[in-house]
Amino acid sequence: MTQINKDKPVMITGATGYVAGWIVKNLLDEGLAVHAPVRDPKSKAKLQYLNAIAADAPGTIKYFKADLLDEGSYAEAMSDCELVFHTASPFKIDVANPQRELVDPAKLGTRNVLEEANRTLSVKRVILTSSCAAIYGDNADLQNTPNGVFTEDIWNTTSSLEYNPYSYSKTVAEKEAWQINKRQSRWDLVVINPPLVIGPGINPHATSESLKVVKQFGDGSLKTGAPQVGFGVVDVRDLADAHVKAAFTPGARGRYIISGHNTDFPEMAAVLIDKFGRDYPIPRRVMPKWLVWLAGPMVNKAMTRKWVSLNVNRPWKGDNSKGRRELGATYRPMKASMVDFFQQMIDSGTLPSRKA
Ligand code: NAP
Repeated sequence: MTQINKDKPVMITGATGYVAGWIVKNLLDEGLAVHAPVRDPKSKAKLQYLNAIAADAPGTIKYFKADLLDEGSYAEAMSDCELVFHTASPFKIDVANPQRELVDPAKLGTRNVLEEANRTLSVKRVILTSSCAAIYGDNADLQNTPNGVFTEDIWNTTSSLEYNPYSYSKTVAEKEAWQINKRQSRWDLVVINPPLVIGPGINPHATSESLKVVKQFGDGSLKTGAPQVGFGVVDVRDLADAHVKAAFTPGARGRYIISGHNTDFPEMAAVLIDKFGRDYPIPRRVMPKWLVWLAGPMVNKAMTRKWVSLNVNRPWKGDNSKGRRELGATYRPMKASMVDFFQQMIDSGTLPSRKA
């Protein structure tokens, strides 16, 4: 049982990121003192959205300079904190050097932050933002699960540096975290495993892969049809609530799949039709697998033929019952997340304001 004192500062890595933005907002709204180590604490452009939410909240935010690959750089920000959120990790699919761009920051960054927790005697709990990518590699992996559903007991064994390297980076980073945690007993580790995150960001111009995925529904990339690829999705606001619940629930333990809905690309497109279907080329058809197989690799380097055969026309099913039961995680309808996200993309100019 871990009780966190809300009078102490709370550290969060990756505060400038899409997922972390709403966690920071929750903490500020609770009146907490947030320590935000970021790569560039002088960047007005990057910090303006966090500063805007801090201006309206009872809590405070203080920036520190740190980098995942710079050993010891989290010391000052972590000093006196009981609670640490580690969200920072690159979420990119198209990379030239997966070791350098994904695995090193994910794994060495996790080691850097958690070893700092070992040295910082005030730390009682670390919340790690892992991913469902650390649970499965391809939708085909669902066949090998004991009950036809992904649960917290399952680990991704099919991704590698060469194939699905982002998923591999999340798997090795989470394993590293558990190993470091098990060597000591002062701080506990609670891991959040979200699937694809959707919904409006605190920063409307976020660079997360989430935006790229949902933007495709409106920019014409999928006008011939959406591939039948199963996904889990969770709203970024519900995910932030779950992180904060995990932090302040004394008995929280282990991994939590925080996933609102088992869905797929065509269903995600369908919930946009009512409001945006007149003005945007929202996909209305399913792209046949043979066409994805032929065209996919030309459109997206990561969409290899192997990936297509192991993911297209295959469902995704995740079990979110542990998070509902132990953390009280709740989920809004997927339509609300998709519509709010799409609208934010129009308002921010990410999507053109008229028919594409
Ligand atoms: P994001 O918007 O790209 O945020 C990534 C954050 O990591 C940014 O704050 C970035 O800082 C920071 N970062 C990257 N490299 C760093 C480095 N070398 N040193 C210090 N900070 C560094 O991505 P996101 O979608 O919010 O992802 C956040 C977390 O959620 C990641 O752990 C990701 O794996 C996980 N996740 C995301 C999704 C999703 O669908 N979005 C799903 C499952 C899990 P800068 O601002 O300086 O670049």
